[in-house]
Amino acid sequence: MWLVTSRQLVDRFGRTATDLRLSVTDVCNLRCTYCLPATGVTWLPRATILSADELARVAHIGISQLGITKIRLTGGEPLTRPDLDQIIRAIAVAHPDVEIALTTNGIGLAERAKALASAGLHRVNVSLDTVHPETYAAMTRRDGLQRVLDGIRGAVEAGLNPVKINSVLLAGINDHELHDLLDFCLAEGSELRFIEQMPIGATRDWARENLISAADIRGIIEQRHRLRELPGRGPAPAQRWEVLSTEGATLGTVGIVASVTEPFCEACDRTRISADGQLRSCLFSQRETDLRTPLRAGASDEEIAQLWAEAMWAKPRAHGSDAGGFGLHFIQPERPMNAIGG
Ligand code: SAM
Repeated sequence: MWLVTSRQLVDRFGRTATDLRLSVTDVCNLRCTYCLPATGVTWLPRATILSADELARVAHIGISQLGITKIRLTGGEPLTRPDLDQIIRAIAVAHPDVEIALTTNGIGLAERAKALASAGLHRVNVSLDTVHPETYAAMTRRDGLQRVLDGIRGAVEAGLNPVKINSVLLAGINDHELHDLLDFCLAEGSELRFIEQMPIGATRDWARENLISAADIRGIIEQRHRLRELPGRGPAPAQRWEVLSTEGATLGTVGIVASVTEPFCEACDRTRISADGQLRSCLFSQRETDLRTPLRAGASDEEIAQLWAEAMWAKPRAHGSDAGGFGLHFIQPERPMNAIGG
């Protein structure tokens, strides 16, 4: 049998995963058009969702046995879990040196930011695609823009800095509002990060011809500003740019996650566990490894670590398909984004 010897999550292509995306729920209180259908969402069976103790144990195994140095809690919407503080505290107390970050839609963040920070949360990314209430309602199928804006400010006040804003642009829906969102982020001192729309929504209506690409985004920004590429990207998914006024004054920074048109798989350092304890080596993976069953059947930390390391060894070279890319051979994963953990 193949044995874990290095105590690291290495794969066949020489990459080492140190960044764990740990989903805490598949449930979401928004219905973003590119992610979830308007109605009739089938949630994962509640009994399969890992408890706070189980999530903390998974994190502990990753950190103590496999070299995980950074954990991002995601979902679904993590703030829908009332015990999110407890999950964070359990990880932070056992592993104070590990960076713990959160990706959230920001609804309810204003009320919880201080408690999350005191539980041990370091940083937060808030998803926000528009600063216009009508567009927000159209894109998320819910009201609540003001609560998100309050959440961003609450996070800054709680010291969860730098607060980053994740944004997806849809052609004809919010792309013409890019400058309003950018102006808001520059004024708030938050880094705006555009994420190219990926073919992974539950609605399965992704079309390459509708994509607002990284090149499009840079072009729109450069209608009003200058962009200077920042070095030292490393394994980070976002290429970062300094935003300068036409006179050359620094206004802030912007990031672009170009998963579709400028993929960064060769530098990927991520490993993912869904809220029901299924390990994925890649967001687009067709394969999952069940960690929940052994976890609940009394497997030791070493046995779980062994399964985890074996699954990561088989991580595909690119995009869940060794053929690479989102071309003819790309097969969208069965599991929707909210159930994987974005
Ligand atoms: N509920 C949390 C939130 O809103 O940030 C965490 C989960 S959400 C799935 C994480 C991120 O994935 C959000 O920024 C969302 O915009 C993004 N996302 C969802 N579907 C996407 C898609 N098809 N392409 C690109 N990004 C997507």
